[in-house]
Amino acid sequence: MQEAYNELNEKLAELSDIGAAGALMGWDQQVNMPPGGAEARGRQMGTLGKIAHEKLIDSRVGELLEILKPFEEEKGYDSTEASIIRIARRGYDKAVDVPPSFTAKWQKVTSDSFEVWIKARPANDFKMVQSHLETNFDLCKEYADYFPGYEHPLDPMIDNHDFGMKASNIRSIFSELRKELVPVVEAITSQEPADDSFMHGHFDSAKQIEFGESIAKLYGYDFNRGRQDMAAHPFTISFAIGDVRITTRVLEDFLSSALFSTLHEAGHAMYEQGSDPAFDGTVLRGGTTIGVHESQSRLWENIVGRSKPFWGHHYPQLQEKFPDQFANVPLDRFYKGINKVERSLIRVESDEVTYNLHVMMRFAFECDVLDGKLAVEELPEAWKDRMESDIGARPPDDKDGVMQDIHWYNGIIGYFQGYTLGNIMSSQFYDAAVRAHPEIIDELGQGKYDTLHTWLKDNLYSHGSKYTAHEILKKATGQELNIGPYMNYLKTKYGELYEL
Ligand SMILES: [Zn+2]
Repeated sequence: MQEAYNELNEKLAELSDIGAAGALMGWDQQVNMPPGGAEARGRQMGTLGKIAHEKLIDSRVGELLEILKPFEEEKGYDSTEASIIRIARRGYDKAVDVPPSFTAKWQKVTSDSFEVWIKARPANDFKMVQSHLETNFDLCKEYADYFPGYEHPLDPMIDNHDFGMKASNIRSIFSELRKELVPVVEAITSQEPADDSFMHGHFDSAKQIEFGESIAKLYGYDFNRGRQDMAAHPFTISFAIGDVRITTRVLEDFLSSALFSTLHEAGHAMYEQGSDPAFDGTVLRGGTTIGVHESQSRLWENIVGRSKPFWGHHYPQLQEKFPDQFANVPLDRFYKGINKVERSLIRVESDEVTYNLHVMMRFAFECDVLDGKLAVEELPEAWKDRMESDIGARPPDDKDGVMQDIHWYNGIIGYFQGYTLGNIMSSQFYDAAVRAHPEIIDELGQGKYDTLHTWLKDNLYSHGSKYTAHEILKKATGQELNIGPYMNYLKTKYGELYEL
């Protein structure tokens, strides 16, 4: 039995290596690659994806998974061995239903589409990328058809990103959250808007990067096992537990962009770096679902990085770095400014309160397009209308409307819900950490993050992808997914800043 287990692990390690090579090509595509490399890169990534897929669905893998059933049972659910077999089986069962030629086509098509979006967005030319987007949604439907019996065509995609969730679950959580959020947004936006003019000005790039990285280091993001580069759309990517990279984008006229994106990506990266070292090269390395991943990026970006104790400690350092901009801005004004709530156009720059409304809209559009209720060519206008009715801001163009996010253009569909699930869970995890260690709150005011980071590492990060979102939430917090702690967090925080 041990022999079969070793054989499976050897195969999985090869797959992990191929996956890392593909990820490295993807990182390079967004960080370093000259534009001329685009076409070949799409093909190369397609080839690699196909090889990985073929290796995964090799009949020997299926045999080994069958042979190992008694071994898995004997070792017990929580053991590393049983978990590797269980997670490998989940991947195998899903991959075996999809032909490798589809994977190659998917990689190629979405990589081409990404290259067109890169040009279409600044040109504000949706027509340029429309047919690519249609193909991406068509392929999403084609993918769903490999899994007959789904409730909604988005479900097989959602399952890849937020395992265990379906469109119907998400719809019900979103409608519950929406009911609570809308009155809060209304109460806040009917009051005098916060002043954040001091965040717009001139901020030297190098100083911005230096400041953001100094905080990421204090949080516990290990630069010996990581690095930060520039990319159009910030992301985290992991090739091994010893190599987890982040990217950011710097705007010299707006401080929030790079600063908060670095804190956000550092949260993702710490989750990846925190896996049990024994998981390297196995299917257990790295985080579990997108939702849980986002819970960590959001916890470090928002709950910690936009909190008053945090800035009570770090604001004097920021003032020292940018004296011209902040010398005359008192802490309270700064704190209110970085937590400004407004009816704005861009999801990634929106505040904690309205953010989820942006997500809900995207999720609803994905469902509508796949249901055939909305054609891709109608999306730009539908987007503007819905922004106006849901958020109260009408985009003047498509660049900052339907084309603002990379996701759909890169074939990432059934993904947006993870951001809101992450917001909800971020409060559940944070509250559980504070229940276990009430001193965390004081430590935030001293620039100390060890206790919080260690609790998260022990209760969440070290488990890698061994447990589902549901299981890890239950284990770490004792709760099911619920919006209570998150709404409580928002109402307490924003209740101090505004009259609610
Ligand atoms: Zn994120």
